[in-house]
Amino acid sequence: MSVLKKRVVFFLLDGARPDILNQELALGNLPNIARHIVEPGSNQSMVTVFPSTTGPAYLPFITGMHPGTCNIPGIRWFDKTSYAQRGWSFKSFRSYVGLETYLMNHDLNPTIKTAYDLFNEPYSVMNMINRGVRKKNNTTRFSRIWYYYYAHLTDHWSFIDKVTTHSIISIINNKPNFDYIFAVYPSVDEYSHIGSPFHARTREAYRDFDSQVGAIVKSLKDKGVLEETLFVLTSDHGLSETKTHFDIGPYLESKGIRTFFYTQIFKMRFEAASMVSGNGMAHLYFKNDKKWESGRTSIEDLLQKGLLLDELRHRREIEFITGVSQNGSIHILNDKGHAAFSIQNDQVHYEWQHQDPLSLKIPGNTQRKAHFSLDESYALTWDSHTPDLFYQLSKIFESPRSGDLIVSARSGFDLRDRFEHPEHKSSHGALCSEHMKIPLITNIKITRGTTLRSMDVFPTLLKAVGKPIPDGLDGKSLI
Ligand SMILES: [Zn+2]
Repeated sequence: MSVLKKRVVFFLLDGARPDILNQELALGNLPNIARHIVEPGSNQSMVTVFPSTTGPAYLPFITGMHPGTCNIPGIRWFDKTSYAQRGWSFKSFRSYVGLETYLMNHDLNPTIKTAYDLFNEPYSVMNMINRGVRKKNNTTRFSRIWYYYYAHLTDHWSFIDKVTTHSIISIINNKPNFDYIFAVYPSVDEYSHIGSPFHARTREAYRDFDSQVGAIVKSLKDKGVLEETLFVLTSDHGLSETKTHFDIGPYLESKGIRTFFYTQIFKMRFEAASMVSGNGMAHLYFKNDKKWESGRTSIEDLLQKGLLLDELRHRREIEFITGVSQNGSIHILNDKGHAAFSIQNDQVHYEWQHQDPLSLKIPGNTQRKAHFSLDESYALTWDSHTPDLFYQLSKIFESPRSGDLIVSARSGFDLRDRFEHPEHKSSHGALCSEHMKIPLITNIKITRGTTLRSMDVFPTLLKAVGKPIPDGLDGKSLI
């Protein structure tokens, strides 16, 4: 296939939901996106990754890999192996908030190449993950955190979007050899958190973004490079409105389990760790009998110890909890039932007791078990509460930093309360339909296959500009 484009401008509209984007497009409120990206190209919905959270969910776009493969399974994690060896140390746990966001580049699996390693003249704008980028090409390297701090205090998130646009236009005007710009627009996500994904102010952020696309198109046209530029417009997760917060760390403490959780991390002799992302998901880690040991505690051991599994799975705030069996199969528990699946040669073997906890519409099934291919599981789950669950769980548990248990919140609820300021009125992070579906809008035609995931975008854009695709990516090219 011939090379389609010479350079890439990647718009990460953080927190954009495909349904709202499409409503705004249909209303004619996004004329620049419609004319310059949708019309010559294509517009579809796809799945992001679990955890559907800012930061980890950027990784597939920059590496073609799932966050499980990248070993960054959440914005907060605990490392049992490191804690068993070193105890309380900066290698043992993480919360990518504030200055710690800089550590994401350090924590990313060192064998993985990023877009910044593969392009000749790449630029990173307002993006926390930029390993491989030359310092001078990280246009907001030091200022990003202060811009975020300022916006957090003042609610002026639209100002940050304008800084992003200003940086892109400055690159277009002054760096004629740029071949890749990855740019983050945070205001849709932030206005959703403090209001709602459907709030007028959030919708205004989509429209403001569209007018900024117009300004960027104009500067590319003025430089004579518009036709050779590939636009990718996507987001890292959707959001849902949150009515009720369930503070899972303090909940464990209230049950007599001394628990390490943010922001109460200056404690010793704890028996569990609770690391929340988004705030719709949490990794839970447990001490084995008397000591912290390397390796995951199996679901059998957790069930045997009691450890509140039965209480947790029946709580109304929780869609499901999941863990790994001694034989490697992945278990899913909720108020409906208890299921387990394993994947061999891309075939999923799924079985359950009582009722299917996922309520999947599996044709002709009466045996409480089913077999389907991993590709078929995508279509089977797309319209369910838990899109792409089989692939996503199999990948997240590949990370040694993932919990013994992972908790996914039900829509309308999240897993953090007292320690979140300002209050989150919308959440993401869960493996649920509203958080997992994201848009993919490009100014080249992309034909949808049986699966469409966020990690497919990276090999696709490499191919579109004629770059070799590294071996062994989780994603696959769509062209
Ligand atoms: Zn986000």
